[in-house]
Amino acid sequence: MRKTADVVIVGGGIIGASIAYHLTRAGLRDVLVIERDRLGSGSTGKNAGGIRKQFSSEINVRLSQRSIPRIERFAEEMGVDPDFRQVGYLFLITTDAHVVPFERSLELWKRLDVPARRVDAREAKSLCPPARTDDVIFATFCGEDGYADPSSLLNGYIARAREGGAEFVEGAEVTGVDRASDRVLGVRSSQGAVVAPTVVDAAGPWAAQVAKLANVDLPIAPLRRHIFVTDPIPEVQADFPLTVEFSTGLYAHRESGGVLMGMSDPDQPPGFDTSVNWDFLPSVVERALARFPVLAAAKVRTGWAGLYEDTPDKHPILGFVDELPGFVCAAGFSGHGIMHAPATGEAIAELITKGRTTLDISALAHSRFKKGQLVREHNVI
Ligand SMILES: Cc1cc2nc3c(=O)[nH]c(=O)nc-3n(C[C@H](O)[C@H](O)[C@H](O)COP(=O)(O)OP(=O)(O)OC[C@H]3O[C@@H](n4cnc5c(N)ncnc54)[C@H](O)[C@@H]3O)c2cc1C
Repeated sequence: MRKTADVVIVGGGIIGASIAYHLTRAGLRDVLVIERDRLGSGSTGKNAGGIRKQFSSEINVRLSQRSIPRIERFAEEMGVDPDFRQVGYLFLITTDAHVVPFERSLELWKRLDVPARRVDAREAKSLCPPARTDDVIFATFCGEDGYADPSSLLNGYIARAREGGAEFVEGAEVTGVDRASDRVLGVRSSQGAVVAPTVVDAAGPWAAQVAKLANVDLPIAPLRRHIFVTDPIPEVQADFPLTVEFSTGLYAHRESGGVLMGMSDPDQPPGFDTSVNWDFLPSVVERALARFPVLAAAKVRTGWAGLYEDTPDKHPILGFVDELPGFVCAAGFSGHGIMHAPATGEAIAELITKGRTTLDISALAHSRFKKGQLVREHNVI
């Protein structure tokens, strides 16, 4: 392990890799990414690849608006095709309580030029034939949303960042953050110490633990989420939008001729356990069969669990931390880190190299918690 770096990034997931790439693009070559396991072994290797503009907060929409064009051009820019399928996201609203929030979201999307629209139950059915829609009050659809392959996105960032001079070290755990009274001095790790004026915490669900090493409190909690995938089924021949039953958080998209589905468990306590809770599968299957009756013919082939990096307001914490100059947080995406990785990498690199960002991310500062200026996000799955 080298002894010095301009920037040390803790965490080799999509966020660390995107920041490393954008730093090298901004002309910084001495960038070191330290990953305790393998690159992509955290949440980046466990997610559904969903990408959307349909958020209820302006800053989340803007993060998506800055990221999605980059994902559309990813193969061209990065030389790796992430197989971005812009089949749309379809939110099914089946509960009165969600009508007004989604009507507000539709107004926001109109103001921000998001091409999302309200559709009735009949059109929802034509957009997603495998779904039952007779109980749908209305739905919202944005054809620019969709899903992509997260590992291709990760590999693209790693490959291009390496070409730009960044170094990625695997199997090295950051065990300490060195600080003087007024700023960060570097990190200590299982493979040695590195002196660096800037340390970025991109440790995903473990970001609070890393920040703790620097005596910084980050309100980021790990929350287990499951995904199950069925065998191929002939009834699901064609692609369909990533469809969300909003009242339960059940979502599904086509995957290798079968269906990938997930659902949030309201009883899941925070914790780092990523073993599959097979006792939860029957609840998912019950909801999935009710919403997608074609799944009656399907068998669940595999399942896994990963961790959301949950913040109290479901928004990431981005930027320098006031209490410790030189210490940057880029974590807490609350389940949206793949889709927001391009804009995040760009903004954090700009902040480090120029001290300002093209996209205003000030609403996501760590200080918002102390000031009580939380930014609410309603459309969380
Ligand atoms: C089931 C599920 C479905 C999801 N679906 C979507 C989706 O559809 N769309 C979307 O955009 N997002 C989705 N997400 C969220 C997305 O996966 C995350 O937001 C994203 O991967 C976060 O990336 P990251 O780089 O911040 O974290 P990670 O990928 O977790 O990377 C952090 C890395 O830090 C390393 N690390 C931790 N501590 C240390 C240390 N002390 N020293 C060195 N390294 C350390 C870890 O090993 C890890 O590799 C989903 C997540 C889950 C679990």
